[in-house]
Amino acid sequence: MNYAEIKPFSIENGTGVRVSLFVSGCRHRCKECFNQETWDFQYGKPFTEETEEEIIKGLIPTYISGLTLLGGDPTEPENQAALLPLLRRIRAELPGKTVWAYSGYLYEDFLPGGRAYCDATEEYLSLMDVMVDGPFILAEKDISLKFRGSRNQRIIDLAATQKSGQIVLAME
Ligand code: SF4
Repeated sequence: MNYAEIKPFSIENGTGVRVSLFVSGCRHRCKECFNQETWDFQYGKPFTEETEEEIIKGLIPTYISGLTLLGGDPTEPENQAALLPLLRRIRAELPGKTVWAYSGYLYEDFLPGGRAYCDATEEYLSLMDVMVDGPFILAEKDISLKFRGSRNQRIIDLAATQKSGQIVLAME
């Protein structure tokens, strides 16, 4: 997997101050996407063990709430598999930190048989706290929304959703 950028302190992609990782690769091609160069899976730099270490170190300070994965799309099947080792380390070494991910797919696409379901999916989602799902839809753009760009996108509490079997929102 390649990645475009790491932002060590961001406040717009989830609660608190967060490390944001922008990975490469996205098939959704949303009109007026904010980050079109990252559609290409080859864009940016290779994600290496050193990159993983940089992120882990960036998450350690107590004022950092957690990691946000975005892109590109960190839930493309190739990227799910590539990011699993990082998420395993965060849960094992930094259990107080939260993980958010932005996906151009719908939550339902990650259920068995869904178009974004792969061997990594169940573990990958179990290691995350929140998924902001759905493509950016220009006609539903609303700049007053917190942590999302268009009204169709949902901020999903993954643990509660997986437990209940129904979509549970983390916030409106
Ligand atoms: S899912 Fe995100 S990165 Fe992909 S095209 Fe849509 S807005 Fe752009």
